[in-house]
Amino acid sequence: MVRMLLVGPPGAGKGTQAVLLSEAFGIPAISTGDIFRANVRDETPLGVEAKSFMDRGEYVPDSLTNALVADRLSHADCERGFLLDGYPRTLDQVRALDEVLAAQGNHLDIVVELTADPEIVIERIRLRANSQGRTDDTDDVLRNRLSVYTRETAPLIDVYGGRGILVSVDGIGAIDDVTGRIMESMSAHGFSA
Ligand code: ADP
Repeated sequence: MVRMLLVGPPGAGKGTQAVLLSEAFGIPAISTGDIFRANVRDETPLGVEAKSFMDRGEYVPDSLTNALVADRLSHADCERGFLLDGYPRTLDQVRALDEVLAAQGNHLDIVVELTADPEIVIERIRLRANSQGRTDDTDDVLRNRLSVYTRETAPLIDVYGGRGILVSVDGIGAIDDVTGRIMESMSAHGFSA
């Protein structure tokens, strides 16, 4: 049973690790990016609204994102823990998540920061752009996503560090090695799969 989140710059490997960790811990992986992309694909009202922000590498407004996650966390499969991938990304989202969890008498257990050098991230995303065709993986949009990350999301690292629930893990290396590092850091905090 663990309530955790993964944070890190675009291309750090959050999505890949989220799937592996969710299987290992038996908890749902909730990726706001995936949820938004599914809505864009299905042309839902949320998708239509989100698309213009995503295509520019900007964040979808907090009001929309917070409501989406609050709803998702109310589903029964989150009762025994969850892994959030790509949320929260702003201080306002941190507050919103704290409130949702506090209303349930819960709190976050651990925050895993995946670190990655920007040059490596850019290279990884160039490769991914070829295979996945994400419309926000072009060089210009990616550079904007990296700068939005530094401005809006990097401050969250200090917030969770101050709470004593942050672990930082090197996201560079083979996928399984990174998973192993995350598991080790988590088990040092008392969370084992
Ligand atoms: P990456 O981590 O590579 O940027 P994601 O799939 O997590 O990829 O996110 C893709 C896009 O979806 C973001 O650039 C943003 O527009 C939107 N998005 C995802 N999560 C959030 C969030 N928590 N708040 C606002 N926008 C978000």
